[in-house]
Amino acid sequence: MNSISIGTATTSPGTLQYGRWDAFDHPTGNREFLPVILAQGKEDGPTIWLTAGIHGPEHAGPSVLYKLLTQKLVDHLRGTIVAIPALTPAGIRTRSYVPYHVDINPNRLWPDGKLTKKKDPEKHPQFSLERAYERLFAEITATADYGNGCYLIDYHNAWIGSISFSFQDRVLYRADVDAERNKAEAETLLAKQQEMLEAYGHTIVVEYPAEKYIRR
Ligand SMILES: [Zn+2]
Repeated sequence: MNSISIGTATTSPGTLQYGRWDAFDHPTGNREFLPVILAQGKEDGPTIWLTAGIHGPEHAGPSVLYKLLTQKLVDHLRGTIVAIPALTPAGIRTRSYVPYHVDINPNRLWPDGKLTKKKDPEKHPQFSLERAYERLFAEITATADYGNGCYLIDYHNAWIGSISFSFQDRVLYRADVDAERNKAEAETLLAKQQEMLEAYGHTIVVEYPAEKYIRR
């Protein structure tokens, strides 16, 4: 059984473990940490990550994780779930879509901490949250393990009473160099993504035409 440590929590087969992952220090002296829950079954299996709470007013995601992660689940689990139920604690505390310590939608920084359009680092140094997500993403890629894939499910909510659905992100590829190879890789990734979404079993929503993503 593989042992996984995230922040102060370390897996223990057949149990739920709770801990903290230090994100950054506020200039006012307090430390921002993300809560970590590790659920590990007694049998070997994949490791998947489940995250929620990036948008302060969206409470369905954190609630889903707290309801899901019970001893009863662990008793039937093969493998490990790493869960972060509050990706933006300051946003949740203040019910803010954009928390007071960043000036853009934090979802633009998640999961890998990278803004799509690179800014001048002298005029726009990285946000503390950007650096924190970069480090967390490194932990995800180092531990998430599903055969030849890497699973991360991030829970949001659309609005009260909405049906459950999954977004299918466009898989974009560069066509200016190595177009054929890039296209083949993108198609392989798209097929994998399709499998994941079908296995999850919820309605699948494709959000924008590819051109709109590129313009953004
Ligand atoms: Zn959201």
